[in-house]
Amino acid sequence: MAENFDVIVIGAGPGGYVCALRAAQLGMKVGCVEKRATLGGTCLNIGCIPSKALLMSSENFHAVQHDFAEHGIDVDNIRLDLARMQARKGEVVSANVKGVEFLFKKNKVTWLKGAARIAAPGRVEVDGAEYEAKHIVIATGSESIPLPGVEVDEKRIVTSTGALELDRVPGRLVVIGGGYIGLELGSVWSRLGADVTVVEYLDRLVPGMDLEIGKTFERVLGKQGIKFRLSTKVTAAVADDAGVTLTVEPAAGGEAEQLQADVVLVAIGRRPFTAGIGVEDLGVATDERGRVTIDEHFATNVPGIYAIGDVVAGVMLAHKAEEEGVALAEILAGQAGHVNYGVIPGVVYTWPEVASIGKTEEQLKSDGIAYNVGKFPFAANGRARAMGSTDGFVKILADKRSDRILGAHIIGPDAGTLIAEIATAMEFGASAEDVARTCHAHPSLNEAVKEAALAVEGRALHI
Ligand SMILES: Cc1cc2nc3c(=O)[nH]c(=O)nc-3n(C[C@H](O)[C@H](O)[C@H](O)COP(=O)(O)OP(=O)(O)OC[C@H]3O[C@@H](n4cnc5c(N)ncnc54)[C@H](O)[C@@H]3O)c2cc1C
Repeated sequence: MAENFDVIVIGAGPGGYVCALRAAQLGMKVGCVEKRATLGGTCLNIGCIPSKALLMSSENFHAVQHDFAEHGIDVDNIRLDLARMQARKGEVVSANVKGVEFLFKKNKVTWLKGAARIAAPGRVEVDGAEYEAKHIVIATGSESIPLPGVEVDEKRIVTSTGALELDRVPGRLVVIGGGYIGLELGSVWSRLGADVTVVEYLDRLVPGMDLEIGKTFERVLGKQGIKFRLSTKVTAAVADDAGVTLTVEPAAGGEAEQLQADVVLVAIGRRPFTAGIGVEDLGVATDERGRVTIDEHFATNVPGIYAIGDVVAGVMLAHKAEEEGVALAEILAGQAGHVNYGVIPGVVYTWPEVASIGKTEEQLKSDGIAYNVGKFPFAANGRARAMGSTDGFVKILADKRSDRILGAHIIGPDAGTLIAEIATAMEFGASAEDVARTCHAHPSLNEAVKEAALAVEGRALHI
Protein backbone atom coordinates (compact mmCIF):
# COMPACT_ATOMS: atom_id res chain seq x y z
CA MET A 1 0.00 0.00 0.00
CA ALA A 2 1.25 3.45 -0.90
CA GLU A 3 2.21 5.61 2.10
CA ASN A 4 -0.39 8.27 2.78
CA PHE A 5 0.29 11.97 3.52
CA ASP A 6 -1.91 14.97 4.18
CA VAL A 7 0.41 17.09 2.01
CA ILE A 8 3.18 16.25 -0.42
CA VAL A 9 5.29 19.26 -1.42
CA ILE A 10 7.37 18.88 -4.59
CA GLY A 11 10.60 20.84 -4.26
CA ALA A 12 12.53 21.79 -1.10
CA GLY A 13 13.46 25.37 -1.97
CA PRO A 14 12.39 28.23 0.33
CA GLY A 15 8.82 27.95 -0.95
CA GLY A 16 8.56 24.18 -0.58
CA TYR A 17 10.53 23.55 2.60
CA VAL A 18 8.85 26.41 4.48
CA CYS A 19 5.42 25.21 3.33
CA ALA A 20 6.32 21.71 4.56
CA LEU A 21 7.50 23.01 7.95
CA ARG A 22 4.41 25.17 8.51
CA ALA A 23 2.05 22.37 7.46
CA ALA A 24 3.82 20.04 9.92
CA GLN A 25 3.59 22.68 12.67
CA LEU A 26 -0.15 22.76 12.03
CA GLY A 27 -0.43 19.03 12.64
CA MET A 28 -0.41 17.64 9.10
CA LYS A 29 1.54 14.59 7.96
CA VAL A 30 3.94 16.01 5.37
CA GLY A 31 6.27 14.60 2.73
CA CYS A 32 8.60 16.87 0.75
CA VAL A 33 10.16 15.56 -2.46
CA GLU A 34 13.58 16.86 -3.47
CA LYS A 35 15.70 15.44 -6.27
CA ARG A 36 18.82 17.44 -5.42
CA ALA A 37 21.28 15.75 -3.04
CA THR A 38 20.68 18.51 -0.47
CA LEU A 39 17.65 20.48 0.70
CA GLY A 40 17.17 24.24 0.34
CA GLY A 41 16.60 24.56 -3.43
CA THR A 42 18.14 27.18 -5.66
CA CYS A 43 18.35 29.66 -2.80
CA LEU A 44 20.55 27.71 -0.42
CA ASN A 45 22.53 25.67 -2.95
CA ILE A 46 23.18 27.87 -5.99
CA GLY A 47 21.48 31.21 -5.28
CA CYS A 48 21.03 33.57 -2.36
CA ILE A 49 23.39 31.93 0.11
CA PRO A 50 26.51 31.09 -1.95
CA SER A 51 26.28 34.47 -3.71
CA LYS A 52 26.15 36.28 -0.38
CA ALA A 53 29.10 34.25 0.92
CA LEU A 54 31.20 35.32 -2.08
CA LEU A 55 29.94 38.90 -1.84
CA MET A 56 31.13 39.05 1.78
CA SER A 57 34.52 37.49 1.00
CA SER A 58 35.14 39.70 -2.02
CA GLU A 59 34.04 42.77 -0.06
CA ASN A 60 36.61 41.93 2.61
CA PHE A 61 39.31 41.43 -0.03
CA HIS A 62 38.48 44.74 -1.65
CA ALA A 63 38.32 46.56 1.70
CA VAL A 64 41.69 45.31 2.87
CA GLN A 65 43.22 46.49 -0.40
CA HIS A 66 41.49 49.82 -0.79
CA ASP A 67 39.88 50.99 2.45
CA PHE A 68 42.01 49.81 5.37
CA ALA A 69 44.87 52.30 4.80
CA GLU A 70 42.45 55.19 5.40
CA HIS A 71 41.73 53.69 8.83
CA GLY A 72 45.45 53.64 9.58
CA ILE A 73 45.75 49.92 9.01
CA ASP A 74 48.56 49.01 6.65
CA VAL A 75 48.54 45.48 5.37
CA ASP A 76 51.34 44.13 3.20
CA ASN A 77 51.40 41.17 0.87
CA ILE A 78 47.69 40.85 0.33
CA ARG A 79 47.06 37.64 -1.57
CA LEU A 80 43.88 36.08 -2.83
CA ASP A 81 43.38 32.42 -1.96
CA LEU A 82 40.40 31.77 -4.21
CA ALA A 83 40.33 28.05 -3.43
CA ARG A 84 39.93 28.87 0.29
CA MET A 85 37.29 31.49 -0.50
CA GLN A 86 35.33 28.96 -2.53
CA ALA A 87 35.75 26.35 0.19
CA ARG A 88 34.35 28.78 2.77
CA LYS A 89 31.37 29.40 0.49
CA GLY A 90 30.85 25.62 0.39
CA GLU A 91 30.95 25.47 4.20
CA VAL A 92 28.36 28.25 4.47
CA VAL A 93 26.07 26.42 2.01
CA SER A 94 26.59 23.12 3.79
CA ALA A 95 25.67 24.57 7.20
CA ASN A 96 22.48 26.01 5.74
CA VAL A 97 21.31 22.93 3.85
CA LYS A 98 22.02 20.72 6.87
CA GLY A 99 20.00 23.18 8.92
CA VAL A 100 16.95 22.48 6.75
CA GLU A 101 17.51 18.74 7.11
CA PHE A 102 17.57 19.21 10.90
CA LEU A 103 14.34 21.24 10.74
CA PHE A 104 12.66 18.47 8.71
CA LYS A 105 13.62 15.92 11.36
CA LYS A 106 12.56 18.19 14.20
CA ASN A 107 9.13 18.78 12.61
CA LYS A 108 8.74 15.19 11.37
CA VAL A 109 8.63 16.14 7.68
CA THR A 110 9.59 13.12 5.55
CA TRP A 111 12.16 13.90 2.86
CA LEU A 112 11.14 11.80 -0.15
CA LYS A 113 14.41 11.64 -2.06
CA GLY A 114 14.19 11.65 -5.82
CA ALA A 115 12.33 13.26 -8.72
CA ALA A 116 8.57 13.54 -8.38
CA ARG A 117 5.89 13.11 -10.99
CA ILE A 118 2.23 13.69 -10.24
CA ALA A 119 0.61 10.52 -11.58
CA ALA A 120 -2.92 11.78 -10.84
CA PRO A 121 -4.54 14.16 -8.36
CA GLY A 122 -3.73 12.66 -4.96
CA ARG A 123 -0.91 10.44 -6.31
CA VAL A 124 2.79 11.23 -6.54
CA GLU A 125 5.51 8.96 -7.93
CA VAL A 126 9.07 9.44 -6.68
CA ASP A 127 11.59 7.44 -8.68
CA GLY A 128 9.18 4.53 -9.05
CA ALA A 129 7.72 4.58 -5.52
CA GLU A 130 4.09 5.72 -5.12
CA TYR A 131 2.66 7.98 -2.43
CA GLU A 132 -0.79 9.34 -1.78
CA ALA A 133 -1.68 12.79 -0.51
CA LYS A 134 -4.83 14.86 0.04
CA HIS A 135 -2.99 17.94 -1.19
CA ILE A 136 -0.08 18.24 -3.62
CA VAL A 137 2.00 21.43 -3.77
CA ILE A 138 4.15 22.24 -6.81
CA ALA A 139 7.19 24.23 -5.60
CA THR A 140 9.65 23.29 -8.33
CA GLY A 141 11.16 26.77 -8.69
CA SER A 142 12.95 28.21 -11.68
CA GLU A 143 15.97 27.95 -13.96
CA SER A 144 18.13 30.47 -15.91
CA ILE A 145 16.68 31.72 -19.17
CA PRO A 146 18.95 30.77 -22.09
CA LEU A 147 19.94 33.40 -24.66
CA PRO A 148 19.58 32.36 -28.31
CA GLY A 149 22.98 32.22 -30.00
CA VAL A 150 24.83 31.80 -26.70
CA GLU A 151 25.55 28.23 -25.65
CA VAL A 152 26.27 27.77 -21.95
CA ASP A 153 29.11 25.36 -21.04
CA GLU A 154 29.37 26.53 -17.37
CA LYS A 155 33.12 27.08 -17.89
CA ARG A 156 33.60 29.99 -20.30
CA ILE A 157 29.97 30.82 -20.89
CA VAL A 158 28.24 30.43 -17.56
CA THR A 159 24.93 30.94 -15.80
CA SER A 160 24.93 32.16 -12.20
CA THR A 161 25.63 28.55 -11.17
CA GLY A 162 28.94 28.48 -13.06
CA ALA A 163 29.77 32.05 -12.03
CA LEU A 164 29.66 30.94 -8.39
CA GLU A 165 32.15 28.15 -9.08
CA LEU A 166 34.95 29.83 -11.09
CA ASP A 167 38.34 28.54 -9.97
CA ARG A 168 40.27 31.55 -11.22
CA VAL A 169 39.52 35.24 -11.54
CA PRO A 170 38.71 35.96 -15.19
CA GLY A 171 40.76 38.75 -16.78
CA ARG A 172 37.68 40.05 -18.59
CA LEU A 173 34.15 39.16 -17.54
CA VAL A 174 31.19 40.19 -19.63
CA VAL A 175 27.86 40.00 -17.82
CA ILE A 176 24.80 39.83 -20.06
CA GLY A 177 21.93 41.38 -18.07
CA GLY A 178 21.87 44.29 -15.64
CA GLY A 179 19.48 42.74 -13.11
CA TYR A 180 20.34 41.92 -9.53
CA ILE A 181 21.99 38.53 -10.18
CA GLY A 182 24.29 39.94 -12.87
CA LEU A 183 25.24 42.96 -10.77
CA GLU A 184 25.90 40.95 -7.61
CA LEU A 185 28.09 38.40 -9.36
CA GLY A 186 29.70 41.11 -11.51
CA SER A 187 30.59 42.91 -8.26
CA VAL A 188 32.13 39.75 -6.78
CA TRP A 189 34.51 39.20 -9.69
CA SER A 190 35.22 42.90 -10.16
CA ARG A 191 36.33 43.18 -6.50
CA LEU A 192 38.53 40.14 -6.99
CA GLY A 193 40.25 41.82 -9.95
CA ALA A 194 38.26 41.06 -13.12
CA ASP A 195 37.62 43.76 -15.70
CA VAL A 196 33.80 43.63 -15.77
CA THR A 197 31.47 44.92 -18.49
CA VAL A 198 27.71 44.63 -18.11
CA VAL A 199 25.72 44.53 -21.34
CA GLU A 200 22.05 45.41 -20.83
CA TYR A 201 19.31 45.51 -23.46
CA LEU A 202 17.34 48.26 -21.71
CA ASP A 203 18.60 51.81 -21.18
CA ARG A 204 18.81 51.30 -17.40
CA LEU A 205 19.86 48.85 -14.70
CA VAL A 206 17.56 46.89 -12.34
CA PRO A 207 14.38 47.45 -14.35
CA GLY A 208 11.36 47.60 -12.07
CA MET A 209 13.23 49.51 -9.39
CA ASP A 210 12.86 53.27 -8.96
CA LEU A 211 14.58 55.03 -11.89
CA GLU A 212 16.46 57.57 -9.76
CA ILE A 213 17.89 54.68 -7.72
CA GLY A 214 18.83 52.86 -10.94
CA LYS A 215 20.72 55.87 -12.27
CA THR A 216 22.57 56.41 -8.98
CA PHE A 217 23.38 52.69 -8.83
CA GLU A 218 24.91 52.84 -12.31
CA ARG A 219 27.07 55.81 -11.29
CA VAL A 220 28.22 54.22 -8.02
CA LEU A 221 29.10 50.88 -9.63
CA GLY A 222 30.81 52.81 -12.44
CA LYS A 223 33.03 54.51 -9.84
CA GLN A 224 33.98 51.04 -8.64
CA GLY A 225 35.24 50.23 -12.14
CA ILE A 226 32.35 48.26 -13.63
CA LYS A 227 31.63 49.31 -17.22
CA PHE A 228 28.16 49.42 -18.71
CA ARG A 229 26.89 49.00 -22.25
CA LEU A 230 23.22 49.91 -21.95
CA SER A 231 20.67 49.74 -24.80
CA THR A 232 22.81 47.00 -26.28
CA LYS A 233 21.94 43.45 -27.27
CA VAL A 234 24.12 40.38 -27.58
CA THR A 235 23.41 38.41 -30.73
CA ALA A 236 26.10 35.72 -30.53
CA ALA A 237 28.90 34.37 -28.37
CA VAL A 238 31.56 31.98 -29.63
CA ALA A 239 33.93 30.27 -27.21
CA ASP A 240 37.34 28.94 -28.21
CA ASP A 241 40.64 28.29 -26.46
CA ALA A 242 41.46 32.00 -26.41
CA GLY A 243 38.20 33.04 -24.74
CA VAL A 244 34.80 34.19 -25.89
CA THR A 245 33.97 36.54 -28.75
CA LEU A 246 30.65 38.30 -28.29
CA THR A 247 28.75 40.05 -31.03
CA VAL A 248 26.77 43.03 -29.77
CA GLU A 249 24.67 45.66 -31.48
CA PRO A 250 22.51 48.61 -30.42
CA ALA A 251 19.16 47.35 -29.05
CA ALA A 252 17.35 49.57 -31.53
CA GLY A 253 19.36 48.08 -34.41
CA GLY A 254 22.57 49.29 -35.99
CA GLU A 255 26.13 48.29 -36.60
CA ALA A 256 27.38 45.14 -34.88
CA GLU A 257 30.70 45.05 -33.03
CA GLN A 258 32.68 42.45 -31.16
CA LEU A 259 33.67 42.23 -27.51
CA GLN A 260 36.31 39.87 -26.14
CA ALA A 261 35.94 38.12 -22.80
CA ASP A 262 37.52 35.31 -20.83
CA VAL A 263 34.22 34.42 -19.21
CA VAL A 264 30.68 35.42 -20.11
CA LEU A 265 27.87 35.31 -17.55
CA VAL A 266 24.38 34.97 -18.98
CA ALA A 267 22.04 36.57 -16.42
CA ILE A 268 19.01 37.69 -18.39
CA GLY A 269 16.47 36.31 -15.93
CA ARG A 270 14.86 33.11 -14.75
CA ARG A 271 11.88 31.09 -15.96
CA PRO A 272 9.58 28.68 -14.13
CA PHE A 273 10.69 25.05 -14.00
CA THR A 274 8.01 22.38 -14.41
CA ALA A 275 9.76 19.75 -16.57
CA GLY A 276 8.96 16.15 -15.70
CA ILE A 277 6.31 16.70 -13.01
CA GLY A 278 3.42 15.88 -15.33
CA VAL A 279 1.82 19.30 -15.56
CA GLU A 280 0.85 18.83 -19.21
CA ASP A 281 -0.52 15.28 -18.79
CA LEU A 282 -2.72 16.39 -15.90
CA GLY A 283 -3.97 19.48 -17.72
CA VAL A 284 -2.62 21.88 -15.05
CA ALA A 285 -3.02 25.33 -16.65
CA THR A 286 0.08 27.47 -17.24
CA ASP A 287 0.30 31.00 -18.63
CA GLU A 288 2.16 32.35 -21.68
CA ARG A 289 5.42 32.41 -19.68
CA GLY A 290 5.08 28.82 -18.48
CA ARG A 291 4.08 29.83 -14.94
CA VAL A 292 1.56 27.58 -13.19
CA THR A 293 -1.73 29.44 -13.03
CA ILE A 294 -3.23 29.72 -9.53
CA ASP A 295 -6.15 31.46 -7.87
CA GLU A 296 -5.86 33.67 -4.76
CA HIS A 297 -5.63 30.51 -2.62
CA PHE A 298 -2.71 29.06 -4.63
CA ALA A 299 -5.01 26.42 -6.16
CA THR A 300 -4.44 25.33 -9.75
CA ASN A 301 -7.35 24.40 -12.03
CA VAL A 302 -6.90 20.72 -10.97
CA PRO A 303 -8.53 20.06 -7.57
CA GLY A 304 -6.03 19.13 -4.85
CA ILE A 305 -3.01 20.57 -6.69
CA TYR A 306 -1.50 23.90 -5.60
CA ALA A 307 1.59 25.89 -6.59
CA ILE A 308 3.85 28.48 -4.93
CA GLY A 309 7.19 30.29 -5.35
CA ASP A 310 9.16 30.94 -8.52
CA VAL A 311 6.98 28.54 -10.49
CA VAL A 312 3.99 30.93 -10.21
CA ALA A 313 3.58 34.60 -11.14
CA GLY A 314 5.17 37.39 -9.09
CA VAL A 315 8.66 38.43 -8.11
CA MET A 316 11.16 35.55 -8.11
CA LEU A 317 12.48 36.03 -4.60
CA ALA A 318 13.05 33.57 -1.77
CA HIS A 319 11.05 35.49 0.85
CA LYS A 320 8.06 35.79 -1.50
CA ALA A 321 8.18 32.01 -1.98
CA GLU A 322 8.41 31.52 1.81
CA GLU A 323 5.42 33.76 2.51
CA GLU A 324 3.39 31.83 -0.06
CA GLY A 325 4.47 28.54 1.53
CA VAL A 326 3.26 29.66 4.95
CA ALA A 327 0.01 31.12 3.62
CA LEU A 328 -0.82 27.95 1.66
CA ALA A 329 -0.09 25.65 4.61
CA GLU A 330 -2.41 27.78 6.74
CA ILE A 331 -5.14 27.70 4.10
CA LEU A 332 -4.85 23.89 3.89
CA ALA A 333 -5.25 23.81 7.68
CA GLY A 334 -8.47 25.81 7.40
CA GLN A 335 -6.89 29.11 8.46
CA ALA A 336 -6.85 32.45 6.62
CA GLY A 337 -3.36 32.45 5.07
CA HIS A 338 -2.55 35.59 3.12
CA VAL A 339 0.38 37.30 1.36
CA ASN A 340 0.52 41.10 1.05
CA TYR A 341 2.13 41.38 -2.39
CA GLY A 342 2.28 45.18 -2.07
CA VAL A 343 4.86 44.91 0.72
CA ILE A 344 7.61 42.62 -0.52
CA PRO A 345 11.11 44.10 -0.32
CA GLY A 346 13.63 43.58 -3.12
CA VAL A 347 17.33 43.86 -2.31
CA VAL A 348 20.53 43.89 -4.38
CA TYR A 349 23.40 42.87 -2.12
CA THR A 350 26.16 44.85 -3.80
CA TRP A 351 28.01 47.53 -1.83
CA PRO A 352 26.30 49.88 -1.42
CA GLU A 353 23.17 47.77 -1.26
CA VAL A 354 19.98 48.70 -3.06
CA ALA A 355 16.59 48.04 -1.51
CA SER A 356 13.13 48.77 -2.70
CA ILE A 357 9.56 48.29 -1.45
CA GLY A 358 6.11 49.33 -2.60
CA LYS A 359 5.53 51.74 -5.44
CA THR A 360 8.23 53.49 -7.44
CA GLU A 361 7.88 57.15 -8.39
CA GLU A 362 7.27 56.08 -11.99
CA GLN A 363 4.41 53.78 -10.95
CA LEU A 364 2.76 56.49 -8.84
CA LYS A 365 2.95 58.90 -11.76
CA SER A 366 1.45 56.43 -14.21
CA ASP A 367 -1.28 55.47 -11.68
CA GLY A 368 -2.11 59.19 -11.26
CA ILE A 369 -1.53 59.07 -7.48
CA ALA A 370 -0.46 62.38 -5.89
CA TYR A 371 2.52 61.91 -3.58
CA ASN A 372 5.19 63.67 -1.56
CA VAL A 373 8.86 62.67 -1.66
CA GLY A 374 11.28 62.76 1.26
CA LYS A 375 14.96 62.16 0.58
CA PHE A 376 18.02 62.05 2.79
CA PRO A 377 21.62 61.36 1.71
CA PHE A 378 23.95 59.05 3.62
CA ALA A 379 26.63 61.75 3.21
CA ALA A 380 24.78 63.60 6.02
CA ASN A 381 24.48 60.57 8.31
CA GLY A 382 27.09 60.34 11.07
CA ARG A 383 27.23 56.56 11.18
CA ALA A 384 27.67 56.28 7.38
CA ARG A 385 30.55 58.78 7.62
CA ALA A 386 32.14 56.77 10.43
CA MET A 387 31.83 53.68 8.27
CA GLY A 388 33.27 55.49 5.24
CA SER A 389 30.21 54.53 3.21
CA THR A 390 28.43 57.72 2.25
CA ASP A 391 27.22 56.92 -1.28
CA GLY A 392 23.47 56.88 -1.74
CA PHE A 393 20.26 58.06 -0.12
CA VAL A 394 16.91 57.06 1.36
CA LYS A 395 13.80 58.05 -0.54
CA ILE A 396 10.31 57.73 0.91
CA LEU A 397 7.15 58.22 -1.12
CA ALA A 398 4.00 59.10 0.80
CA ASP A 399 0.43 59.78 -0.25
CA LYS A 400 -0.07 63.54 -0.65
CA ARG A 401 -3.37 63.59 1.22
CA SER A 402 -3.09 60.90 3.88
CA ASP A 403 0.74 60.80 4.28
CA ARG A 404 0.52 56.97 4.18
CA ILE A 405 3.82 55.45 3.02
CA LEU A 406 3.40 54.07 -0.50
CA GLY A 407 6.99 53.08 -1.26
CA ALA A 408 10.59 53.44 -0.20
CA HIS A 409 13.83 53.11 -2.12
CA ILE A 410 17.26 53.03 -0.58
CA ILE A 411 20.74 52.89 -2.03
CA GLY A 412 23.38 52.88 0.65
CA PRO A 413 25.13 50.90 3.36
CA ASP A 414 23.01 48.01 4.66
CA ALA A 415 19.98 49.16 2.66
CA GLY A 416 18.64 45.58 2.74
CA THR A 417 18.35 45.72 6.52
CA LEU A 418 17.10 49.32 6.63
CA ILE A 419 14.17 48.54 4.33
CA ALA A 420 12.69 46.17 6.96
CA GLU A 421 11.70 49.17 9.07
CA ILE A 422 9.66 50.53 6.19
CA ALA A 423 8.16 47.08 5.49
CA THR A 424 6.88 46.93 9.08
CA ALA A 425 5.60 50.50 8.86
CA MET A 426 3.77 49.75 5.61
CA GLU A 427 2.21 46.56 7.05
CA PHE A 428 0.78 48.73 9.84
CA GLY A 429 -0.44 51.31 7.30
CA ALA A 430 1.90 53.89 8.83
CA SER A 431 2.29 57.47 7.67
CA ALA A 432 5.68 59.04 7.01
CA GLU A 433 5.03 61.10 10.15
CA ASP A 434 4.74 57.88 12.21
CA VAL A 435 8.29 56.94 11.16
CA ALA A 436 9.51 60.52 11.59
CA ARG A 437 8.19 60.68 15.19
CA THR A 438 9.73 57.34 16.17
CA CYS A 439 12.90 57.64 18.23
CA HIS A 440 15.84 56.11 16.31
CA ALA A 441 19.13 55.22 17.98
CA HIS A 442 22.09 57.49 17.39
CA PRO A 443 24.40 57.07 15.60
CA SER A 444 22.67 54.60 13.32
CA LEU A 445 22.06 54.23 9.62
CA ASN A 446 18.34 54.08 10.45
CA GLU A 447 18.51 57.76 11.30
CA ALA A 448 18.71 58.34 7.53
CA VAL A 449 15.31 56.61 7.24
CA LYS A 450 13.89 58.86 9.97
CA GLU A 451 15.33 61.94 8.27
CA ALA A 452 13.85 60.92 4.90
CA ALA A 453 10.48 60.53 6.66
CA LEU A 454 10.92 64.03 8.15
CA ALA A 455 11.85 65.29 4.68
CA VAL A 456 8.45 64.18 3.35
CA GLU A 457 7.10 67.22 5.22
CA GLY A 458 10.13 69.30 4.34
CA ARG A 459 11.51 69.25 7.87
CA ALA A 460 14.62 67.10 7.85
CA LEU A 461 16.92 68.30 10.62
CA HIS A 462 20.41 67.30 9.60
CA ILE A 463 20.62 68.76 6.11
C1 LIG B 1 22.46 33.50 -8.10
C2 LIG B 1 21.13 33.73 -7.44
C3 LIG B 1 21.06 34.60 -6.37
C4 LIG B 1 19.85 34.82 -5.73
N1 LIG B 1 19.81 35.68 -4.68
C5 LIG B 1 18.63 35.92 -4.06
C6 LIG B 1 18.57 36.79 -2.94
O1 LIG B 1 19.58 37.34 -2.50
N2 LIG B 1 17.38 36.98 -2.34
C7 LIG B 1 16.23 36.37 -2.80
O2 LIG B 1 15.18 36.59 -2.23
N3 LIG B 1 16.25 35.55 -3.87
C8 LIG B 1 17.43 35.30 -4.50
N4 LIG B 1 17.46 34.43 -5.56
C9 LIG B 1 16.19 33.83 -6.01
C10 LIG B 1 15.78 32.66 -5.12
O3 LIG B 1 16.81 31.70 -5.13
C11 LIG B 1 14.48 32.06 -5.62
O4 LIG B 1 13.49 33.05 -5.68
C12 LIG B 1 14.00 30.96 -4.69
O5 LIG B 1 14.96 29.94 -4.56
C13 LIG B 1 12.69 30.36 -5.18
O6 LIG B 1 12.27 29.38 -4.29
P1 LIG B 1 11.36 28.17 -4.76
O7 LIG B 1 11.11 27.36 -3.52
O8 LIG B 1 10.20 28.65 -5.52
O9 LIG B 1 12.24 27.32 -5.80
P2 LIG B 1 13.72 26.75 -5.78
O10 LIG B 1 14.55 27.35 -4.73
O11 LIG B 1 14.19 26.86 -7.19
O12 LIG B 1 13.55 25.23 -5.39
C14 LIG B 1 12.90 24.31 -6.21
C15 LIG B 1 13.40 22.93 -5.88
O13 LIG B 1 12.58 21.98 -6.53
C16 LIG B 1 13.36 20.88 -6.90
N5 LIG B 1 12.65 20.14 -7.95
C17 LIG B 1 12.29 20.57 -9.19
N6 LIG B 1 11.61 19.61 -9.84
C18 LIG B 1 11.53 18.55 -9.01
C19 LIG B 1 10.96 17.27 -9.11
N7 LIG B 1 10.28 16.86 -10.20
N8 LIG B 1 11.09 16.44 -8.06
C20 LIG B 1 11.75 16.80 -6.95
N9 LIG B 1 12.31 18.01 -6.79
C21 LIG B 1 12.20 18.88 -7.80
C22 LIG B 1 14.64 21.51 -7.38
O14 LIG B 1 15.71 20.57 -7.34
C23 LIG B 1 14.82 22.65 -6.37
O15 LIG B 1 15.64 22.25 -5.30
C24 LIG B 1 18.67 34.16 -6.20
C25 LIG B 1 18.75 33.27 -7.27
C26 LIG B 1 19.96 33.05 -7.89
C27 LIG B 1 20.02 32.08 -9.04
